[in-house]
Amino acid sequence: MKIGTPKEIFQGENRVAMTPDSALQLQKLGHECLVETGAGAAAGFADADYTAAGVEVVKTAAALWKAADVVAKVRAPDTAEMKRLRDGQTLISFFSPVADEANMKKAADKGATVVAMEMIPRISRAQKMDALSSMANIAGYRAVIEAGNNFGRFFTGQITAAGKVPPAKVLIVGAGVAGLAAIGTSTSLGAITYAFDVRPEVAEQVESMGAEFVYLDFEEEQQDGAATGGYASVSSPEFREAQLAKFREMAPEVDIVITTALIPNREAPEIWTADMVAAMKPGSVIVDLAAEKGGNCKQTVMDEKIVTENGVTIIGYTDFPSRMATQASTLYATNIRHLMTDLTPEKDGVINHNMEDDVIRGATIAHGKEVTFPPPPPKVA
Ligand code: NAD
Repeated sequence: MKIGTPKEIFQGENRVAMTPDSALQLQKLGHECLVETGAGAAAGFADADYTAAGVEVVKTAAALWKAADVVAKVRAPDTAEMKRLRDGQTLISFFSPVADEANMKKAADKGATVVAMEMIPRISRAQKMDALSSMANIAGYRAVIEAGNNFGRFFTGQITAAGKVPPAKVLIVGAGVAGLAAIGTSTSLGAITYAFDVRPEVAEQVESMGAEFVYLDFEEEQQDGAATGGYASVSSPEFREAQLAKFREMAPEVDIVITTALIPNREAPEIWTADMVAAMKPGSVIVDLAAEKGGNCKQTVMDEKIVTENGVTIIGYTDFPSRMATQASTLYATNIRHLMTDLTPEKDGVINHNMEDDVIRGATIAHGKEVTFPPPPPKVA
């Protein structure tokens, strides 16, 4: 089959869904590969690199969409791309099925198959295809780098001939994939790193990475994440108060706060309140990785960097993976390549879209002229 990757058209998107390396692997599965000219340029992959890897470079998006049996891209299709999607074609990309019901229905009506990358089930077997995790890992790393870039001091403490430098104090709220990546980056830069999560089961992981888990003075046990499949649920008012009281105590002391707290299918919880921002030292930095879901800090402005009256920088960028486009493209293209491996069990260039397979079924949102979202719960953990 022909697998084609167009140039992303979303403003500011630098990632690409196929790299010369991933194309070599896709060809080993018996597929032919195509890219639109310039598709990898913003991520550091030139047309010549693709050609050298046996990829056909086509001149226009129209030609690419026409020729490809499978279109692999990063962002959900826009209106023009939806028009190009056709009967019998498979589209693999992020899609936001919950938010974009109309396009999902349109794709099904056309007879296209759509695999939504955010729907890859989060089970062990599917980790190699889990693009939400590979992108969250980059976001967590980059959040710390971005914070450092806007912070006027070292992360690590130093004793120098010119004076003693205290280490920076970093608080990371939410220790999921992005939070853990941020913790690893912060500790490796030498900062004193604190981390908090409503799921107490992550404390051991946090501590093994050299950070200090922030425990609350709270009589009842913290919420049991196991009850919600490893995800957070909404905190009780008492728990939330205890959490806010702890953060109020920490606010004047910490230099950098990175918030990553999310609850699936809900607005992000407010966890860094205006009075905490006001209590921070001038020069402190907040990076709000929940900006796209309303922010963990209400002062966050999505996609912008602001400085408050008391000199606190608040970063609300939502494009951290795109800011590290080479790395993000490499990992995302690998996620797609693994998915294609599962879709090509005989390695003969023929796709077997097996709806009995938990992972393929879970991520497929349109197939056989039907909307196939939401999927049934996975059988295997
Ligand atoms: P996420 O992006 O949904 O949320 C980020 C973190 O914020 C979570 O750790 C959550 O507990 C925390 N949080 C929510 N509300 C909070 C609050 N009020 N205060 C502090 N923290 C709060 O999380 P994620 O990165 O998608 O990971 C969620 C879970 O899924 C984790 O248990 C992770 O290990 C698991 N996971 C499993 C797989 C797999 O098995 N393939 C892959 C990825 C993630």
